[in-house]
Amino acid sequence: MSDCLVLNSNGVPVTLLPLSVISWQESIKFMTLNKVEVLKWHTDWVVRSPNWSTPVPSVVMLKEYLKPKEVVRFSRTNLYIRDGGECQYCGLPLDHREATVDHVIPASNGGKTTWANCTIACMKCNVSKGNKHYIFPMSIPHKPSYYELIKKRKQLKFTVKHKEWLQFIE
Ligand SMILES: [Zn+2]
Repeated sequence: MSDCLVLNSNGVPVTLLPLSVISWQESIKFMTLNKVEVLKWHTDWVVRSPNWSTPVPSVVMLKEYLKPKEVVRFSRTNLYIRDGGECQYCGLPLDHREATVDHVIPASNGGKTTWANCTIACMKCNVSKGNKHYIFPMSIPHKPSYYELIKKRKQLKFTVKHKEWLQFIE
């Protein structure tokens, strides 16, 4: 799914949240349509058809500038970034995979799955909090701006599918 990083014509990813990536099929399609310039190839990956073969692009740059949409989508990953990757009840730094989404007002009590009602919590705090709604997170949940999220994103350790992408992201 995410085989090729897409950079805008100014050399930075079209979007960071989520990272602008496309499948290998799309990367080859854009390449043959002459819409992108390939900056890096996968060194160990060649695809073949009866008539031709090509290495798979790893990083491509758009030839025409695409105006980025600076939208903040509600997602577990963006919530994790907003909360600095820390449990909002005990402060424990969490790995992205072990972070859970906690509803401050429990969903069973009508709490909504929104920026204003969700925080990142460790499993232990999430379970022990359960349906109690007199326990509040350290920071008041809010909808972050795009720039707030980008700034926080840069403070967190970035893991990407392919190491060679990092030089285009940091
Ligand atoms: Zn915790």
